[in-house]
Amino acid sequence: MPEQLKQDYLGGRGFAVKMLYELLPKDTDPFAPENLLIFATGPLNGTVAPAGASLTAVTRSPLTGLLGIDTTSGFWGTELKFAGYDMVVIQGQADELVYLEIDDDRVTIKPADWLRRRGVHDTTNLLQERLGDDFKIAAIGPAGENRVLYASIVCDHMDKLSRTGLGAVMGAKNLKAIAVHGTKDINLANTDRFLSKMKESHNAVKNDPMFIPLSRYGTTELFEEAHSAGALAIRNNQEGVFNRIIGVSRNTIDNLSRGPDRRLVERPCSFCIMPCKAYIEIKKNGEPVRRNRPHYQTLASLGPRLGISSAQTIIEANHLCEDMGMDPVSFGGSLAFLMECYQRHKFDQDVLEWGSDSQLLDLIRETAFRQGSGDLLSQGVRRMSLLFPGSREFAMEVKGLELPGLDGRAAKAHALAMAISNRGGDTSLHWPQFEIFEKSEQEAEDLFVYGSAADPQDWRGKASMVIWHEYFAALLDSAGICKHYAFSAYALKPRDIAEFLTYATGTTYREMDVMMLGERVSTVERMFNLRFGMNPTTDDTLPKRLLNERLNDGKAQGQTIELGRMLQEYYTLRGYTEDGYLRMDYLQNLNLVRGEVVTH
Ligand code: SF4
Repeated sequence: MPEQLKQDYLGGRGFAVKMLYELLPKDTDPFAPENLLIFATGPLNGTVAPAGASLTAVTRSPLTGLLGIDTTSGFWGTELKFAGYDMVVIQGQADELVYLEIDDDRVTIKPADWLRRRGVHDTTNLLQERLGDDFKIAAIGPAGENRVLYASIVCDHMDKLSRTGLGAVMGAKNLKAIAVHGTKDINLANTDRFLSKMKESHNAVKNDPMFIPLSRYGTTELFEEAHSAGALAIRNNQEGVFNRIIGVSRNTIDNLSRGPDRRLVERPCSFCIMPCKAYIEIKKNGEPVRRNRPHYQTLASLGPRLGISSAQTIIEANHLCEDMGMDPVSFGGSLAFLMECYQRHKFDQDVLEWGSDSQLLDLIRETAFRQGSGDLLSQGVRRMSLLFPGSREFAMEVKGLELPGLDGRAAKAHALAMAISNRGGDTSLHWPQFEIFEKSEQEAEDLFVYGSAADPQDWRGKASMVIWHEYFAALLDSAGICKHYAFSAYALKPRDIAEFLTYATGTTYREMDVMMLGERVSTVERMFNLRFGMNPTTDDTLPKRLLNERLNDGKAQGQTIELGRMLQEYYTLRGYTEDGYLRMDYLQNLNLVRGEVVTH
């Protein structure tokens, strides 16, 4: 690995996007064998750094045509590191369905036709039966095999590389799964300093007020925070209040997780002391059945967004989406859009009524197998909206990616992040959760210069807040640290990551260097998108509903989004041209001018 590459990109997301940018020929079709699918871990993954468990996957997305990217935490990336690999780059297409087995230095491609049409959970169990429980499994389900545009990859039953269709690209390569097992050590340059930093960092996180609720309730706690801010997207963002919220609340899910026939099992990722992941183990006919506790964005997308208020239904729907290997956020967004098309007489089939859950599981299956209305749903919101004249007004997508189940009119940093994110309408490359945590103006001023940024409905200071999260998130993903951990408690700061990197690698990192590294990584992603046809004027935007319709009810009643003002401030602070392109001198400062660069 060239020293300059390590210095400029660190690893993980940094390596993966740089590799994709350098190696993928322009105009490569996402389903062509030439497309790349890259998995990468960072230098802190597999060390005992707090939440050092993150994994990034990138490709050219079949859903958006732009950067396809997702990150997750768990065990698969750590196992890859123990096998001795920072990155796996997959190109080509097998003649038949196969799986890849990585056992330390031994790498083998094996037939997988016996796994065809199997769900993710079955595939994982069957491969572990054959190879041993020591193997960690990343698998696709029927949605990936059938090229559903938002198919996902699921690691070890739970950790999802969910968004932008990574699973569809894996399916197009005829790759059903990657099984990995490693036994190598990871050495640290200065173990004593590293361990003492780890203790200091654990104490800081444990003292944060969010530590206990997140450890107990997982990200359903964030669902409560979003609800308190009036920021849930209800019935495809048509309403500001969900009267039946009690049915899907954090406490309802918690109550459903505990009882005489069931228990909640915490499942923290490698080296994490804040177990936000958990599953419910239920005894059915004497046998344990497992259901993962839904992530808050899944809860929002399969719940209030569809008007559904049954936590039990959402838990089952989440389980089925995982098993089919399909992103529940894009599925929920696509279904909500089609339901509104029916409501407004633009589509003549009643797929599902608002609030009704009777057909939900059937629709998930039909989508994964692309049957009936499911074939339409499998195309995502943007493609469907082109079929129904007049539906663009309420097509809740940006750059072709369905929005998460949050309403940016109530949380302006989230709105700006959705407009400019390098993966399309989403906030997970930023996680600006600070604004919905009821933090003080002083805390906001300390981090983002503007105290006004603490108010979720105030647009002022949001560009600065989003940029801080943008750089820090890219840094965390490149280093191999979980973003949930850092952005839920806000106790881990860029200077802490710089220290961990210094003690792990023996090279001195400063806070300024590592934030610049995050800036560089997110800029390469924008360069990739510009090369693949992104137009900032038409793509750095939000659905018309969010810009033109005031929220009709709830805590953010009367709000729209001041996108133009936030966007101008964002472009200025980022150093872009006023229409959102990259300046050559800006790229030179980041050491990014090499080969063909699209500046205009
Ligand atoms: S905070 Fe949650 S997602 Fe992140 S490493 Fe810990 S358990 Fe995993």
